[in-house]
Amino acid sequence: MAFFMWRQNNSGGHFVVDDDLTWRVVIESDDYEQAEIYALGIGVYYDGVDEGRDCRCCGDRWYEGQELDCEDQTLVEHLQEYADDYGWENPSVIIHYADGTKGTITRAVKNQANEPVEAVLE
Ligand SMILES: [Zn+2]
Repeated sequence: MAFFMWRQNNSGGHFVVDDDLTWRVVIESDDYEQAEIYALGIGVYYDGVDEGRDCRCCGDRWYEGQELDCEDQTLVEHLQEYADDYGWENPSVIIHYADGTKGTITRAVKNQANEPVEAVLE
């Protein structure tokens, strides 16, 4: 098993957040192809500008996924640090485990308070 992450661009000035999607989406799978099928099934899409769904100046909402390298950290430790440093939205990350369960990573409150007004969550 491996973990693959899809990154969302805030095309049009906002992120799409629902039960399955947020700023970052992580999917556990045997391989990239299966993870991508799952990602597309929960609402990830490509070529949003060409299809007229995404803002032309901001660019496509979703980038292709990448396998995560957590180095010497656990998955959750790695994602928590990443979210604390760079995260947007709450939760910042939704993890879709292969057994069908989900996990979420919420960025640290101290960093939310330090963000400029534009980044404060609604
Ligand atoms: Zn734009």
